[in-house]
Amino acid sequence: MKKHNFYAGPSILSEYTIKNTAEAIKDFAGTGLSILEVSHRSKEFVAVMDEAQALVKELLEVPEGYHVLFLGGGASMQFCMVPYNLLKKKAAYLETGTWATNAIKEARLFGEVDVVASSKEANFTNIPKNYVVPDDVDYFHFTSNNTIYGTEMRYDPDVKVPLVADMSSDIFSRPVDVSKYDVIYAGAQKNLAPAGVTIVIVKEDALGHVDRAIPTMLDYRTHVKKGSMFNTPPVLPIYSALQTLKYYKELGGVKEMERRDLAKAELLYEAIDSSKMFVGTVAPEDRSIMNVCFVMKPEYDGLDKEFIDFASTKGIVGIKGHRSVGGFRASLYNALPIESVKVLVDAMKEFEAKH
Ligand code: PLP
Repeated sequence: MKKHNFYAGPSILSEYTIKNTAEAIKDFAGTGLSILEVSHRSKEFVAVMDEAQALVKELLEVPEGYHVLFLGGGASMQFCMVPYNLLKKKAAYLETGTWATNAIKEARLFGEVDVVASSKEANFTNIPKNYVVPDDVDYFHFTSNNTIYGTEMRYDPDVKVPLVADMSSDIFSRPVDVSKYDVIYAGAQKNLAPAGVTIVIVKEDALGHVDRAIPTMLDYRTHVKKGSMFNTPPVLPIYSALQTLKYYKELGGVKEMERRDLAKAELLYEAIDSSKMFVGTVAPEDRSIMNVCFVMKPEYDGLDKEFIDFASTKGIVGIKGHRSVGGFRASLYNALPIESVKVLVDAMKEFEAKH
C-alpha cells in the first residue's frame, strides 16, 4: 500500500533524493565505489560539497559576506555554538517552544539572556506579540517554526539588532531576507536530508568579536576556513542534501515550494475548521504550514487511537501528536505531495461520518 508520511522528523524526502542517494550508495559519480566508502577529500565529493553550498546560496539568495557550512552535531549543537561565537554580553531570545527553551538554556552559560517574551503559559499555542527587543543586545534569537506545537513565524522580524534563527523545520519553505541575520541554522532532517548534518549560514563580519577562547570544533571560523572539511563531514547526508537542493531548483525554487506548502496547509486547516470532530490547537494567525496540530473536540474524547488506527488503514503514518501536546500532528514538509493531504482529509471526513 502507498504510504503517506506525516512524520515530524526525520521525515519524508523527495523521491528524487531517495533514488539518487540509493544509486550513489551503489556507485557514486562513476567512481565504481559507494558514496559510503569514498574519501571526503576525493575530487568527486569536493564537487558535491561545493555544489551544495552554491545551491543553498542560490536558493536563499544569500548575499556576499556569508558562508554556508555543513556541520555535524544537529541543530542542538547550534544552541551552544551561537552564543559561544556571538554572545559578548547580552542576547535576546523569544521563547516559543521547547527548542527555543533549549537554546535559551545554553545561551545562559555564556552571558546575560533577555527572554523578551514567552508563550509558555499558553502551552506555546501562539507567537507572542508586542515584545520589545532592546537595542543593546548582540543578537535576537527566535525559532521560526515550532515543530512540536505547530506555530510559525513566516517573516524576518524587524528589529534593530542582527537576527539569529533556528529554521530547522521550515527552511526552504519561503524566501528569507538573509541580510538581516548573523546566523541561520537548520538540522537537515525535515526539509533537506537524512539526519546527521546541519546547515549553518553565517555572516563573516559577525565572527571574531568575543573575548572567550572557543574550542576548535565549536568555532565557526574553523569550519569557514576549511570549507566544512576541517574534520570528516557527514558525507552521505550532504550528498542527499545536494539532491534535494537540485530538486528544489528544478521545481522553481523556494517561492514555488512556498506556493505548494501554502496550498497543502490551507487544505488541511480548512478540513479541521469545518469539522465537528477535530479542532486546531494553535491561534489561527500563528499556524504553521509545516506542522499542523489538532485534537478531538471534548465530546469525542477517547477516540484518538481509533482514528490513528483507522488512518493507518489508508497508508497514513506519523500523525500522532507530540507527547507534550497530544492529539495529532500532520507534518507537511516540502516533499509531501498534496495527494497525501487529500488522503488525510478524506480519512478525517470518513471517520467523522462513522461517529
Ligand atoms: N530545532 C527545531 C525547530 C527542531 O524541530 C529540532 C528537532 O526536531 C531541533 C531544533 C533539534 O534538532 P537536532 O535533533 O538536529 O539537534
